[in-house]
Amino acid sequence: MSYASTLLGLLPGGRRAPGIAQLISKLESYLPPDQVERVREAYDSAEQAHKGQKRRSGEPYITHPVAVADILADLRMDGATVAAAILHDVVEDTGVSNEAITERFGKEIADIVDGVTKLDQIQFKNRQEAQAESFRKMLLAMVRDIRVIMVKLADRVHNMRTLGAMPPAKRRLVARETLDIYAPIANRLGIHSIKLELEELGFKALYPKRYRVIERELKRSRGSQKEFLPKITSNLRQALKRAGIEGEVEAREKHLFSVYAKMRRKKVALSEVIDVFGVRVVVGTVDECYRVLGLAHGLYRPMPGRFKDYIAIPRVNGYQSLHTTLFGPNGMPLEMQIRTREMHEMAESGIAAHWTYKTGETEGAARQERAREWLKNVAQLQDASAEEVLENVRLDLFPDKVYVFTPKGDIMRLPRGGTCVDFAYAVHTVVGNHCVAAKVDRRLVPLRTVLRNGQTVEIITAKGAQPNPVWASFVVSAKARAAIRQYLKGLKRGEAVDFGTRLLNQALEEFRLSLRSLPAGRLDQVAVALGLRDGHDLLEKIGLGERPAPLVARRLLPREADMPREGPQAPVSIAGTEGLVVSYARCCFPVPPDAIVAYLSSGRGVVIHRDNCGNVSGFRKQPEKWIPAVWEKQPNRTFSSEIKVHVSNRMGVLAQVAAQIAAQETNIDHVNVTAEGDETSVITLEVEVRDRAHLARVIRAIKTMPDVLGVERTLA
Ligand code: MN
Repeated sequence: MSYASTLLGLLPGGRRAPGIAQLISKLESYLPPDQVERVREAYDSAEQAHKGQKRRSGEPYITHPVAVADILADLRMDGATVAAAILHDVVEDTGVSNEAITERFGKEIADIVDGVTKLDQIQFKNRQEAQAESFRKMLLAMVRDIRVIMVKLADRVHNMRTLGAMPPAKRRLVARETLDIYAPIANRLGIHSIKLELEELGFKALYPKRYRVIERELKRSRGSQKEFLPKITSNLRQALKRAGIEGEVEAREKHLFSVYAKMRRKKVALSEVIDVFGVRVVVGTVDECYRVLGLAHGLYRPMPGRFKDYIAIPRVNGYQSLHTTLFGPNGMPLEMQIRTREMHEMAESGIAAHWTYKTGETEGAARQERAREWLKNVAQLQDASAEEVLENVRLDLFPDKVYVFTPKGDIMRLPRGGTCVDFAYAVHTVVGNHCVAAKVDRRLVPLRTVLRNGQTVEIITAKGAQPNPVWASFVVSAKARAAIRQYLKGLKRGEAVDFGTRLLNQALEEFRLSLRSLPAGRLDQVAVALGLRDGHDLLEKIGLGERPAPLVARRLLPREADMPREGPQAPVSIAGTEGLVVSYARCCFPVPPDAIVAYLSSGRGVVIHRDNCGNVSGFRKQPEKWIPAVWEKQPNRTFSSEIKVHVSNRMGVLAQVAAQIAAQETNIDHVNVTAEGDETSVITLEVEVRDRAHLARVIRAIKTMPDVLGVERTLA
């Protein structure tokens, strides 16, 4: 869809409103004749009703609704929406009643007009209240019929295009509202072209000086790119052709407001945002997207850490694409987007795509699902005060914040990317420190689950539970981060003492003894003899693995019992909640219910290995360092495990494997790819699983993929 570019091309100089003839011929290109006829009738009615009215610019009023309808026709909206757009100001500004519209044009069109009229009728008391009110009405209207919003957005686009006729103070007010409310709504709905135009016009009206500076710099940058861009695009086109992929390669325009927003967001200089090549490749299939990615990475060196797979994990507004940044000519960054035609259409018109008129509907089920999901989130907002709705919708529309509900309906605000653990800490530090599980919308989910707007989150706590060091790697809120760090710092010593006590008791059990049964002062005595402060100190050293428990146990024995019993040592049980003093070996990645043994590692506490791990053979040389271990029922956490996936060397296979793993609700912590030869590679993946059954499910899911030759679990 070239709507955005043609539209933006026409922006400077304020174009004349299109006439009805132009609109009709546009409609004839995609609507059946009866729908076009209905729009023509709507025009006749509206023209009659607005007769004699003029806009501030002096033009006949009817030019405004026609222009609004024209914007919707560019989005290929259905006949009812376009007709409603022509009639949108009739009830508000003329004597025509809504009943009359129902009678003449039917309930569908009349309801859309009514929705728009109601939005317009809201009386502003103070800014906050008024905006909240309008938000609420809009949201309510949206849930019933999103086409009301479509008309309202198009109305705002045309009012912004003709803003010059307004007095300066009013101009700023409208521009501010456009940037604060309407552009984000368009963005949230994924209607890219409208979002872009609202942003550009709003930015220009609100910050004319900044607009001019960026405009000038953009022009300069375009000049310097002229030399290389055609070469880049032709290189890419040739690569596609050689690979037998049909697709379009085009240079991407930079938009002023997005340049400005990026500067502010990333706190970088203008040149860093502007002096970047932008290229988009649109191909037929998802598979081709990944192949093109491979071709591009072959042509230009990719920048590490800049690849984003929004195909496997779409953005909240349904946006899908592969993003990568390459080192272009002269080291200038080359930002690339790769997507299918369908994704491109979705990226341009978003939710509007659902109401696009199409002969022979071919809507994907996934799109419908996303739209429904989106509407559901919005619907949950309705039980709140106007003030709250403003706050929440703002958060909902501004993608740097996420807000969710507690089971009691209280609203918690989290930074974007916030997880269940962030939520738990937002409720209270104590809740965070003791959380063991979470329910999102009444379904159990892993604690690291990233929360989305409108979800209801319930945290399950347990008395003995403690923060897991792993959390520090995924929480995003400052509060959670600080609390976890604080807790872990104070914890290590206490943990070591507790665990040391357990280890020592277990070692004493061999002699049918326990710490309790020893004479008072015995532990301190031995500790001092070993050059330590006291028994507490000794227990800590045992917990940290610096003193083997069996040797200490032996020193604690009363003389007469000073011989070890025959028979196996009692195993120490591992709950998975020991914290920093217990770690899991990265040579064999044990997960419950693997058979395990524990190795006392000086200073690192205890390291758990699988008992068939190759490194366990060292057991023979240092028997006092190894102790039997068992899992304590089902630990309530995830464990890292590593798998090696042998694949045939095909572009996109990594992304496919990753997507398949994600589909098993499994997080990937680390990925590495090594070539085995020309034909095959090994992908080494570190995944987070609850237990062996979960891991087995992941492995099964990958095994069935066509390019996967084999999967194995890492074992030293
Ligand atoms: Mn209007």
